[in-house]
Amino acid sequence: MDARATIDHRLFVLEVVLKPERDRSVRRRHPWLFAGAVAQVEGEETPGAWARVRSAAGEVLGYGHFSPRSSLRVRLLSFDKDPPPEDWLRERIASALERRCRDPLVGDTDAVRLVNAEGDGLPGLIVDRYADVVVMKMSAVGMHARGDEIAGELRRATGAAVGFERADGTAARREGFPVREGVVWGDGLEPVVWIRERTRRFAVDVRAGQKTGFYLDQRDARDLVQGLASGRRVLDLFAYTGGFAAAAARGGAARVTLVESSAAALELARRNLEANAPGVAFEIAQADAFRWVRRTGPRGGGGEGERYDLLIVDPPPLARNKRDVERASRAYKDVLLHALQLCAPRALVLAFACSHHLGPELVRRIAFAASLDAGRSVTVLRELGAPADHPVSIDHPEGAYLTGLLLRA
Ligand code: SAH
Repeated sequence: MDARATIDHRLFVLEVVLKPERDRSVRRRHPWLFAGAVAQVEGEETPGAWARVRSAAGEVLGYGHFSPRSSLRVRLLSFDKDPPPEDWLRERIASALERRCRDPLVGDTDAVRLVNAEGDGLPGLIVDRYADVVVMKMSAVGMHARGDEIAGELRRATGAAVGFERADGTAARREGFPVREGVVWGDGLEPVVWIRERTRRFAVDVRAGQKTGFYLDQRDARDLVQGLASGRRVLDLFAYTGGFAAAAARGGAARVTLVESSAAALELARRNLEANAPGVAFEIAQADAFRWVRRTGPRGGGGEGERYDLLIVDPPPLARNKRDVERASRAYKDVLLHALQLCAPRALVLAFACSHHLGPELVRRIAFAASLDAGRSVTVLRELGAPADHPVSIDHPEGAYLTGLLLRA
């Protein structure tokens, strides 16, 4: 059943009573309440309904959205004794937008993450703006159920010409809501939306691209790459639509090599390179980057030929949960080891991991292991993360997923 039709703001208030001693995370303002902590639920278990959370002793601890199918049973939106005000959604969206407004940390761009889920007090909701197009993506039934209201608020508050909802199929299955995707307001959504970021321009496919179309979370790193690229031979591994490659080309790279497995992404990468630096020589390899580095390096027969001065290693999330961490670390070490062997003297390497389970400490250890095996001493110059429009609430450390290290090899 689509919850959207049945939910009506605060009319359904369930009582969720916790087991004894299981109130600690809520008292620490953590927004996730897992099913294992729940002793009993009183009332009709409507997906997305408001739930009032009480301790075993009956004390009111907060309010959140109920998700009967997910092990993440309640996403807390308030830790007050009183229910959230009627206009909580409008207020939270408005403050999220206001925080981005002229934020010097975000800087000059028309492509911004407007709502970053828990980081903006809106668990289960991601909203990105690409020029005149707003893309929203819901990963919790509480937000799915309020989709029309969210779209209405976003339309009013942004004035954007087009609103598009991207489906999150995995979340829909987990939470038990129907997959829904399409234009929610406006018309004339072009197959490609052009965005502007500093002096760079990028073509974004909001319908079929990864995430909501573009890796907005790498904006600061693109600035860094652009600033470092002059005269360097650049290798962009896991290039997607060439965000880093195009920034490097724009920054005066001597030449740029992209390695990426997705043909659709590379098609846009080509356009992005041409739009940002028409004169710069680039080479595109549609390939498995794990194999490509192995093949191209000295042990793979690449000889002493190929060397790079600036390398970006930005693989997909290799560890989606804790069980994956060991395998992910091995895969990451492997690709980094081979990347180090492609380094010219004093090359710079930007190594990213986009999983909460591969944090800065672990990435550092992986880089250390790779440096030992590659026989190169490496120094860490800088630690990188997501930019200011991807805020992480201190109550919700799981929100931090992007780690980067700038290394000198
Ligand atoms: N650096 C990019 C984002 C990279 S996301 C940017 O800033 O825009 C990871 C990318 O790796 C995705 O585009 C995905 O298609 C690609 N990918 C996944 N597995 C791969 C593999 N084995 N070899 C090459 N590319 C791969």
